[in-house]
Amino acid sequence: MVRDQIAARGIRDRRVLEAMASVPRHEFVLAPFRDSAYEDRPLPIGRGQTISQPYIVARMAEALELKGKERLLEVGSGSGYAAAVFGRLAAEVYGIELEPELNDRAVKVLASLGVRNVHLRAGDGFQGWPAQAPFDAIVLSCAAPELPAPLWEQLRMGGVAVMPEGEAGRVQRLVRIRKTIQGPRKEVLELVAFVPLRRP
Ligand code: SAH
Repeated sequence: MVRDQIAARGIRDRRVLEAMASVPRHEFVLAPFRDSAYEDRPLPIGRGQTISQPYIVARMAEALELKGKERLLEVGSGSGYAAAVFGRLAAEVYGIELEPELNDRAVKVLASLGVRNVHLRAGDGFQGWPAQAPFDAIVLSCAAPELPAPLWEQLRMGGVAVMPEGEAGRVQRLVRIRKTIQGPRKEVLELVAFVPLRRP
């Protein structure tokens, strides 16, 4: 998976490749999909949601420019897979998932793998996690027309947010937004297709 899908498509960050190689993706998918866990595609995780394609997780991880000391917020932590990958690259990861059922399963999987620096809770990620802010980096694993204002507030100056920008069912743009004193500085990275950020 790492060689053929991720390195072959241009991901060079050695720490990202190591993180992708070390997290057992089959533990995060539903039992009927275990045999497909390392295929080049998203897979269902229940509640109509999907675990992202491995390459996209790697692309987002690389775009976050994590060096190891960061506090990262993930909105839409779903199965916990991407959060586990980010957990290999940052100091502390905070994940919020709207669907309590998915969150409960993710908490159990991470505990069974002995992951201690990834903290998950169920809730509306639009609001961020004020008690743990500010964050050095924020990643959205669901698409939104723009970065929600509470998340911008909770991003530290100089930090980056990576998100699929756009509407559900349309082609979205994966963007990196840097918080500068002059305001947001945005780069378009890639075209993507994510499930939408929903409001409860
Ligand atoms: N990173 C996840 C991908 C899950 S798909 C993984 O590796 O498995 C995106 C997730 O965003 C879905 O589980 C969906 O329920 C969640 N989501 C949608 N709107 C949300 C919101 N407002 N707050 C938190 N999570 C949300």
